[in-house]
Amino acid sequence: MSRVNTVLGSVPAQELGIVAVHEHIGYGMPGCELDSKWWKTPEERYEETVPKLRQFHEYGGGTFVDATGICNGRDVDYYKSLSAKTGVHIVACTGFVGGDTALPFFARASVDYLAQQFIHEITVGIGDTGSRAGVIKVGVSRGGRMTDLDKRIYRAAARAALSTGVPILTHLAIDAETAIAIFGEEGLPLDRVLFGHADDGVNAEKTRDTWIAEQGGRVGFDTFGYETELEDPPFWARPRKERLDHFLRFIDQHLDKALASADANCSPLGWPGVKGHTVNYIFEDLIPDLRTAGVDESTITRLFVENPADFLTIKH
Ligand SMILES: [Zn+2]
Repeated sequence: MSRVNTVLGSVPAQELGIVAVHEHIGYGMPGCELDSKWWKTPEERYEETVPKLRQFHEYGGGTFVDATGICNGRDVDYYKSLSAKTGVHIVACTGFVGGDTALPFFARASVDYLAQQFIHEITVGIGDTGSRAGVIKVGVSRGGRMTDLDKRIYRAAARAALSTGVPILTHLAIDAETAIAIFGEEGLPLDRVLFGHADDGVNAEKTRDTWIAEQGGRVGFDTFGYETELEDPPFWARPRKERLDHFLRFIDQHLDKALASADANCSPLGWPGVKGHTVNYIFEDLIPDLRTAGVDESTITRLFVENPADFLTIKH
């Protein structure tokens, strides 16, 4: 049977419902946990996060994929509690957002060590939480080209994906030729990889989204809602209509390869986050925008239910 690892155990892929495939419960830069100046109490974190997840559930959201890697504030016991309280399936990841967010202990590790670490978190569990990772996060460090460490992490992720059947989700889809070459060398089918952030304001121009889809990769339009129209937009923001039009063009050609999400941060760690943006952008803005543009219900189901279920299913 096709199954997916969530923090509360494995569930049948058909039970995931509407999936937000790239989100964050709480994301911070490595080491932020050592700076006590910004610390939020557990009460504050729950207060910021529970209403967003409850609202997500009330809108019909079924599954929240937390794309926060090792070293970025991942807190699986907390995710388990949130999932139990709100009824939202939460999928946690192993891996790193990118080489530049791996602390030195991991940054100096061999490909084999990293692969074993990922495999352990997928098959045994993350720390002593008993929860198994459902996806592997990798990414391109700042600078636009994959660093040597990024490449080691991608190779380790490919080996872990092949060994466990869990898919890979990338931060950034730039320098995709290098990534695809590594996955090819390792023998990993590209439909096990979601190349993320194809739509953000900084990288969209440099991302070969249709080429990636033609090679068999999945493409994430997963920064929906980071708009120049926001009161205080982040540097990766993009005009709302420009992103939507880009997405509509892509799904017209490659619907089977498309995934969408908001990459929002429920309760940012050590930084203010982006005001006015939550995972519920998917229901409050994105799906209505798609309907207004004439996208039919079966396409919406394909994008938010069927494609993510197929991607997240553990495949052997
Ligand atoms: Zn993210």
